[in-house]
Amino acid sequence: MSAPRPTRVVLLGHPVGHSLSPVFQQAAFDACGIDARYEALDVPPERLNATIDALVAERAAGNVTVPHKRSVRLRCAHLTDVATIADAVNVFWVGADGALHGDNSDVGGFDVAAKQLLAEKFTKGLRVALIGAGGSASAVCAATAAWPGATVSVSARTPARAEALTARFAHVSVAASLDDALRGADLVVNATPVGLRDDATPFDVQALSPSARVFDLVYRSGGTRLVRLANERGIHATDGLGMLIEQGALAFERWFEMSAPREVMWNAVRRL
Ligand code: NAP
Repeated sequence: MSAPRPTRVVLLGHPVGHSLSPVFQQAAFDACGIDARYEALDVPPERLNATIDALVAERAAGNVTVPHKRSVRLRCAHLTDVATIADAVNVFWVGADGALHGDNSDVGGFDVAAKQLLAEKFTKGLRVALIGAGGSASAVCAATAAWPGATVSVSARTPARAEALTARFAHVSVAASLDDALRGADLVVNATPVGLRDDATPFDVQALSPSARVFDLVYRSGGTRLVRLANERGIHATDGLGMLIEQGALAFERWFEMSAPREVMWNAVRRL
């Protein structure tokens, strides 16, 4: 027995004002004739549990963003394998059993967008440099764990967080330095917020091999400076918009058990 379709879908985060999810998810609902509203809910940590109780009672579904992905994971009665591996939930829904279910579509979103960026360079034994060791870095580690022979070298400003990733993932190690992580990397991933609010960059693109590819998980209006600088050096690079849309599409497919209209989602974001 499958659960009734949700008619209310929310984004839980703190803050949430910057999110593009309401725009492209609502466009997707409308295009598919789905009678549901998508709204962003700014929920401070002390109100999270009560908010989840109310959402479960009304059989709402949703997405989760910073800082709640781990807390919502702990509230879920059922987790997909990928949410267990990532140790975080960014998609939830109420099952036919009335219990809270959680998934992690950041992992699949990164996987799809990274493979598009890598294209013919997606081969066995990729060396990935990962800058940052927070929630999105964990999703990158969970995705790359399934890439044949891939290894990940993490550089983070808080070494204990990088060490924590190595304890969970056998293919991940801590880099001796940022330069060490970048040297010889086939794919470099920025999983820090550096470049989100200004033109700061998390590393110097001059340190990269010309054949490297750069995936900046950050996205902002007009693109990120890291992507621009990499492109100026002739390095293929992408920002986080492709991952955002793909994780949203995978979430849509969980809630409504039908294909997500990815082109509609992209067009809604491009119109902004
Ligand atoms: P997070 O859990 O807070 O982790 C952020 C990481 O970046 C931590 O390792 C943090 O180090 C480090 N960091 C923060 N500020 C830094 C700075 N100024 N210099 C160097 N390192 C710094 O955040 P997250 O969830 O991983 O998200 C990181 C970014 O990824 C977000 O800002 C967002 O733009 C992007 N993101 C994109 C998508 C997408 O779909 N495209 C999805 C998720 C996230 P400390 O531990 O020392 O604080």
